[in-house]
Amino acid sequence: MDLDDDKGSLAQVNHVILVLSGKGGVGKSTMTTEIALALRHTGKKVGILDVDLCGPSIPRMLSVDMQEVHQCDAGWVPVYTDPSKSLAIMSIGFLLENPDDAVVWRGPKKNALIGQFVSDVAWGELDYLLVDTPPGTSDEHLSIVENLRKHKLDGAIIVTTPQAVSTGDVRREITFCKKTGVRILGIVENMSGFVCPYCSECSNVFSKGGGEELAKLTGSPFLGCVPLDPQLSTSIEEGKDFIKAFPESATFSAIN
Ligand code: ADP
Repeated sequence: MDLDDDKGSLAQVNHVILVLSGKGGVGKSTMTTEIALALRHTGKKVGILDVDLCGPSIPRMLSVDMQEVHQCDAGWVPVYTDPSKSLAIMSIGFLLENPDDAVVWRGPKKNALIGQFVSDVAWGELDYLLVDTPPGTSDEHLSIVENLRKHKLDGAIIVTTPQAVSTGDVRREITFCKKTGVRILGIVENMSGFVCPYCSECSNVFSKGGGEELAKLTGSPFLGCVPLDPQLSTSIEEGKDFIKAFPESATFSAIN
């Protein structure tokens, strides 16, 4: 198929990057959101495709959870976070009648929706599309990789915590990338130390450096450490742009 005829999807998207984690709660959606905001602050046009079908959190993190998607000739129109349309989002959260509804679907239905998300969203021109995936290595991961590979897929960023590195979940994620031929663009160690809200000093509550060690072991680039920062958690809970709201935060330098 000639990709230029592929009007409703990724024809005008320059880079597609998966964001993966071995298990839930390590900050994968938070990192997806902050990477997208950081790219937008450098003047890039960015999209986020949220394929965490059972736990879509991106719309809430960007304060667009009450929005709906509409159809146009080229497919689904993503939701934009601002009038300049520099950050576009597509998520199953926009298709649910109630944002708290549970998605209890069998594999084929999930795979069909993932296929539609990849081929039927009218992203228009984007510099980067970040794909927030469910935790682990499920059927949905295979489906998203197979579907994206038909169009374009640059590789994956793996998010881990210092503790998760020692549990093997993240190693399974790395094996998944190797088996499916997905290039690992880098590893991010999140929740690496704690930033004191009073003095902004960072203390290493858990071990540190596991992400870097793992990167060396697997021959993947290490992208950096992001500390546990109460201000980051507040901005995510309130759907605020952390980079704008707390530019003085110690975390800012880690994720900028
Ligand atoms: P996942 O997508 O891996 O399930 P989330 O991104 O939803 O994880 O993060 C889980 C929780 O941890 C959220 O409440 C989020 O605000 C918080 N969180 C993630 N990273 C950080 C951080 N570096 N500092 C403070 N809170 C964080």
